[in-house]
Amino acid sequence: SFTSSFLPLKCGKVDINDTQDETSLKPIMGVENMNPELLQKMVYDSLVWCSLHGLVVGDKNVKKSGIVPGVGMVHAPFALLPTSFPQSHWQQACELTSIFNELVDRVSLDGKTKKVDDFTRRLLDIHSKMLEINKKEVIRLGLHRSDYMLDDQTKDLLQIELNTISSSFPGLGCLNSIWSFSRNLLNHYGKELGLHPGRVPENAAAAQYAKALAQAWKEYNNYRLALCLNRAVILIVVQTEERNMYDQHWLSSILKERYPFLHSTDNWFLVLFSSCTVHTCRGGQAVAVVYFRAGYAPADYPSESEWRARLLMECSSAVKCPSISYHLAGTKKVQQELAKPSVLERFLENKDDIVKLQKCFAGLWSLDDSKVVKDAIERPQLFVLKPQREGGGNNIYDNNVREALLKLQDGSEEQAAYILMQRIFPITSPMFLVRDGICHQDQAISELGIYGAYLRNKEKVIFNDQCGYLVRTKVSSSNEGGVAAGYGVLDSIYLS
Ligand code: ADP
Ligand code: MG
Ligand code: MG
Repeated sequence: SFTSSFLPLKCGKVDINDTQDETSLKPIMGVENMNPELLQKMVYDSLVWCSLHGLVVGDKNVKKSGIVPGVGMVHAPFALLPTSFPQSHWQQACELTSIFNELVDRVSLDGKTKKVDDFTRRLLDIHSKMLEINKKEVIRLGLHRSDYMLDDQTKDLLQIELNTISSSFPGLGCLNSIWSFSRNLLNHYGKELGLHPGRVPENAAAAQYAKALAQAWKEYNNYRLALCLNRAVILIVVQTEERNMYDQHWLSSILKERYPFLHSTDNWFLVLFSSCTVHTCRGGQAVAVVYFRAGYAPADYPSESEWRARLLMECSSAVKCPSISYHLAGTKKVQQELAKPSVLERFLENKDDIVKLQKCFAGLWSLDDSKVVKDAIERPQLFVLKPQREGGGNNIYDNNVREALLKLQDGSEEQAAYILMQRIFPITSPMFLVRDGICHQDQAISELGIYGAYLRNKEKVIFNDQCGYLVRTKVSSSNEGGVAAGYGVLDSIYLS
């Protein structure tokens, strides 16, 4: 009839007998009973969104993808729907951030050294040199990320680790939640899913990190300007090959956009670690801030020249993010030492703060605790054996814990290179994980990271804040969780 031409045109299969009204649409929060057509549509929309908005990483199948921007990009692996997380634990994790920031600053002033592995030894050597020459860091900048899991049995929020160097994903992680398909997706499909976009907390990690870097730059340049010297630059130290480069480019593009004083190419630059020595001396250009997105792994120091570069930077007056002592304060050995009784009291005065920190510490032991080592050999599945390494993929689990401990019992030298940690078993739930354009449904577990920034100039604390978050989700049968390492996917949070 004539009037039918005024009805909206519908896509897809149309049931002409469809009398369903809105109220009969059931919310489909559950993953099992997800309508397959809706699922396919959401996955497709999300993949398009990632590609259009730069939620991408280098594709490992393309040779130059870690070197040349724009070559061989693939969407970052992601969880289709945000992970449900209790509001109270979210609040708790946020509150802990400024206390951990403060703790790192205090611990960094502690001169005590411990027995460690060869790599950490080299870092400690630089630290000892700084103590010898009585080097003081006047302006101190920390860009940290503290990671947690929610223990299923006790429902406690337990810290996995605190990262003080190269905390990754402030760029892609917040893209995933703010502008992200989580919110976009929920704006589009929330009603059908029974999910409310307002429950995905705001996440401005990259902007907050950029703000802290720019502020540190300003603090440094204040006294240069007073001496009528040229403005110094921000130096971002990166790995030669980095498939996670877009995460770093997000941060640097925000720096350029929001802080135009950093705009011109010669007062801001990104540089490879291997060429640091050359660059720091080039044309006498002074460096205000060195931001490390490299330097946390032995592979970043293929020759003595990288160690010389690190030492050169540490000796300089530039603000180091992190300084060698902030870097060391984030090692797993220090995490384990801080969990010992009455150690926190050496660094913090506020009793409430100490209680809050202790509440989120899981069991942590050194390998000279023979009772725990014996226990771990008997029941290895309840422990994680951790070397002093960063970047994921280094931990030892299950029967390998037993084997490694038995081996380590022979020669005592290597023992100091590891710590033992209580294995945390978080709540598992069915999730949709998307990698390489394919959506898998699996039982998954999540890890929440809270970014924190800390900046002080002499006695004045300029910045000590929570700066957004990162959720990484992985298949529950996988031990490691790194997104870049290929185990996990980026996710966001849905407060419940
Ligand atoms: P890295 O510095 O290499 O990231 P982590 O301590 O974060 O080292 O360990 C890597 C991953 O291993 C974590 O993201 C987490 O998925 C898993 N993991 C670490 N510690 C534990 C633990 N105590 N219980 C369960 N899983 C853990
Ligand atoms: Mg780490
Ligand atoms: Mg980690």
